[in-house]
Amino acid sequence: MAAHRLRVLLLEDSEDDALLVTRLLGRHEPTPEFRRIETEAELEAALSEPEWDCVISDYHMPAFSGLAALAIVRRHSADVPFILVSATIGEEAAVAAMKAGASDYVMKNNLARLLPAFQRELREARARRESQRRIERLAYYDPVTGLANRTLFGERLEQFIAAAKREECMLAVVVVELERIAIVNDSLGRPSRDALVAQMGERLQRWMPDASHLARVGADRFAIVLTGLKQESQVAHSLQEALRQCLFEPFRLEESEFRATAKAGVALYPADGGTAELLLRNGEAAVARARAGGEQYLFYAERMTTRIAEQLAMEDRLRRALGNGEFQLHYQPKVDLDGRRIAAVEALIRWQSPELGLVYPSQFIPLLEDTGMILDVGAWVLGQAVRDHRHWVVQGVSAPRVAVNVSVSQLHRRDFVAVVTQAMGTVTVPPAIDLEITESVLMKDIQGSIRKLSAIRDLGLNIAIDDFGTGYSSLGYLAKLPIHALKIDRSFIVGMLDDPDTMTLVGTIVTLAHSLGLMVVAEGVETEAQVRALRSLGCDQMQGYLLGGPVPRDEMTAVLGRQDAAA
Ligand code: C2E
Ligand code: MG
Ligand code: MG
Repeated sequence: MAAHRLRVLLLEDSEDDALLVTRLLGRHEPTPEFRRIETEAELEAALSEPEWDCVISDYHMPAFSGLAALAIVRRHSADVPFILVSATIGEEAAVAAMKAGASDYVMKNNLARLLPAFQRELREARARRESQRRIERLAYYDPVTGLANRTLFGERLEQFIAAAKREECMLAVVVVELERIAIVNDSLGRPSRDALVAQMGERLQRWMPDASHLARVGADRFAIVLTGLKQESQVAHSLQEALRQCLFEPFRLEESEFRATAKAGVALYPADGGTAELLLRNGEAAVARARAGGEQYLFYAERMTTRIAEQLAMEDRLRRALGNGEFQLHYQPKVDLDGRRIAAVEALIRWQSPELGLVYPSQFIPLLEDTGMILDVGAWVLGQAVRDHRHWVVQGVSAPRVAVNVSVSQLHRRDFVAVVTQAMGTVTVPPAIDLEITESVLMKDIQGSIRKLSAIRDLGLNIAIDDFGTGYSSLGYLAKLPIHALKIDRSFIVGMLDDPDTMTLVGTIVTLAHSLGLMVVAEGVETEAQVRALRSLGCDQMQGYLLGGPVPRDEMTAVLGRQDAAA
């Protein structure tokens, strides 16, 4: 920290007297900086600046009086030392000045007193400031752990809540309660209990280094605020990890070791309350229920606990699914508009769970994305698509190109191109694999997308924009992206026959895509009427239950074989 500069305000009309004072006080270490002024206006201006360390004022000035100056100074600060210097001050005037808040007065014929008086006042002012700080610390901090106390935590929590409201985020108040602390208190005494609490505070702080998020809110109780949450299950993860880290090692009490346990309760903003007071109270209610029920932690809302338990169980099952070979790919045809020949297929993942049966991607892809498991699963999908394509080649059926869906977290990984390259293998004839990427995903990082997709196209993969029409692509970028096709979102296909505007829009998309040299695929075609409309609009390929739903690989092999025989 830069050394504090001593700033002294000097009210003095006489240049000679001012020189004398500055020379005398100049002997102080560090040497003060002086500003000499002589009018009320100058004083008001000077007091609007940050703190002065001392004011020294002449008693009689032609334009101003020392007592008037004192009154003004005291209006700004009750604390700054104010020393009057006078040739003429009488006893009575001096007493009146002290009563009005002057710190001291020094006669001009005894100026030798000025330096010691100045130094004493500085010392006392510093002591006053320190005790003020001590009082503030007591009011806001817990002396045992050095953490914020309940009052300060409450104030900070209000600010976190305001920020969460602005940013439309969730936040969690986690209350952690040490168990069996009464035993320590009764058997080993208060100092041991304090030692335990202090060690727990240190451990929590190691886990949550931003001290503004942490507080001691009761004898055996801490509170933590978790901000910027996207998912409730994040809280469960963090919490389990925190409790594990904080309680794994025994605590040292006097000469012995003590294994502590803890319970936790969680209240969420906005679901469980909109104020600091309410969230903290609900977090405490949750911890009380956890204590009574023997759970390690509970959420305030019971359905939340159930939901998160389900989600965690699901994550657990998904974690095992890849290793156990429970994922499979089904294939759905994309057919030419005229011949209804299978022009390509799309790989759609399915999860055959021993506990849950066949699970569709909408029920587990979001969870794979949140947990990062999508990277491994996505790499598996690419690899499996390559293997299945090769299988068709080996079986001697005309193997169609295989489109693989890619999610946002896969594309935005730095090593995405490497992952795709790896999956394509080292054979000389590259497998006929294409990618489908949802529109909104591409638009998030357009430059990065262009770079990566160009590298991927160079590997021989075609790229289609999936669910087109839902993500408000900028047309300028559409021309720049190294893509091959647009897949019109199912919602437009569903709506186009009932709504002329939608029909016009689909027509416009087809024309636009063709003018950019792109192919157009219609998703979710379910009726002959839709086929006729799409044909008249010049759409290139169709996909939908009418033309064939997703089927397992071997069933697709049979379909492809029949098609070859018919040709
Ligand atoms: P998508 O890529 O837009 O796939 C089309 C979805 O519509 C598929 O659902 C398909 O079964 C369904 N569908 C096909 N024809 C029709 C139809 O005529 N009518 C109706 N109502 N639906 C039809 P699915 O298989 O449940 O997949 C849902 C989404 O999950 C996919 O949307 C895709 O975004 C994602 N997905 C599927 N497999 C993977 C994968 O391996 N990796 C990633 N990252 N995402 C995948
Ligand atoms: Mg798709
Ligand atoms: Mg789609």
